Amino acid sequence: MIPKAMQDAMNEQIKNELYSAYLYLSMAAHFESKTLMGFANWLRIQAKEELGHAMKFYDFILERGGEVTLKAIDQPPSSWQSNLEAFEQVLAHEQKVTKNIHDLYELALKEKDYPSQVMLQWFIEEQVEEEKNATEIIEKLKLIDAHGTAVLMLDHELSKREAEEE
Ligand code: MG
Repeated sequence: MIPKAMQDAMNEQIKNELYSAYLYLSMAAHFESKTLMGFANWLRIQAKEELGHAMKFYDFILERGGEVTLKAIDQPPSSWQSNLEAFEQVLAHEQKVTKNIHDLYELALKEKDYPSQVMLQWFIEEQVEEEKNATEIIEKLKLIDAHGTAVLMLDHELSKREAEEE
């Protein structure tokens, strides 16, 4: 049986992951409206991954005899001043999620909840990857943001991202 405190915190994390999906879907629509289809592709795939993250918590709570409670999701922003600003927001958001995951791990240690500790290790590694990916795009945007041709090249690169099998 999952400890009550862990169940409640993971229900909160389902909401956080779903908000991530919401934010990235909103960004995908923003980029698509600017015909930057590669940026939109990358963000659509990211949004799907976030939905997958939410489902990992959802399934885990149920597997351990807990109760899933879905919380209200905030409305995400819908426009950004620049490509760089949007991806800086992706990174800032992922850093916040990293903190959420670390807090969950702290709680799992405190509760001596070993299954949650094992489960959360996957997320700890995933967050390292998420922050790295966002940072790489930001670094490229800093080099090129003023140059339309280079933005189109990055758009082409991001169009090649394919969804991974879970
Ligand atoms: Mg996530």
